[in-house]
Amino acid sequence: MNVLRKLLCTIGLHTGQWSLPGVRCESVRVCAACGKTDEKVHHTWGDFTYVAADRCEQARRCQRCGTTDTRTEHDWGPWRYSNWEYNSPQFHRCRRCKATEKTIATMR
Ligand SMILES: [Zn+2]
Ligand SMILES: [Zn+2]
Ligand SMILES: [Zn+2]
Repeated sequence: MNVLRKLLCTIGLHTGQWSLPGVRCESVRVCAACGKTDEKVHHTWGDFTYVAADRCEQARRCQRCGTTDTRTEHDWGPWRYSNWEYNSPQFHRCRRCKATEKTIATMR
């Protein structure tokens, strides 16, 4: 039995009970066979909301531990050519924060 368990450990299948997540959303497990400690974090995220009307950062908050996570979600308009020259770079503009992003046109 112990030999089999250690074999499972070598392929990452440790045995043991996960502790209940505490206020920081972490669960810990100590392997019953090899003593290795595993950790996993499982947050209870709320929805992403924009932090300001004219900005594109969104934030969400874990309802359990209060950790926040941010991302940027631009509302890009259509790609346009910056001028009428053949092979000119294209750009698009964010409808919310007015940021622009360009491509470098390639000859392919
Ligand atoms: Zn193990
Ligand atoms: Zn959390
Ligand atoms: Zn934006």
